[in-house]
Amino acid sequence: MLTHGLDWTYQYLRSQGVRITPQRQAVLEYLDKTESHPTAETIYNSLKSKFEGLSLATVYNILHLFKDHGVVMELSYGDSSSRFDGNAENHYHITCSRCGKVEDYHRDLVPEIEEEAERATGFKVQYHRVEFVGICPECARRNMQ
Ligand code: ZN
Ligand code: MN
Repeated sequence: MLTHGLDWTYQYLRSQGVRITPQRQAVLEYLDKTESHPTAETIYNSLKSKFEGLSLATVYNILHLFKDHGVVMELSYGDSSSRFDGNAENHYHITCSRCGKVEDYHRDLVPEIEEEAERATGFKVQYHRVEFVGICPECARRNMQ
């Protein structure tokens, strides 16, 4: 889901000088209607039949353009398996170590941890990421059968 919805996002991007091409529109629509934190490849596979000549690299470029404008968040795992989230506001995620599903974990952020980190390291903290990892209920159930 896009944080502020499709219409707001189109308007905001246009105000930033970003042209909304049909491909860019399709990527935004995809992110707006999913809760699943897709990879670029998942989005590419879903859109390629609609856009002749669309490549995975193009989808990456579109996602990074949106990320640079702050309307998409990238959850990177240090390799090419980044997930993308239309909710660009800082929030927590929990990942299933078995099936790889990524879900939102809604709770208040913990600002004290940033102050503690600044005191301990001397860094000026910009934001923090916390990743929760576990076994999702579906995988746990499958394991019991
Ligand atoms: Zn799972
Ligand atoms: Mn999320």
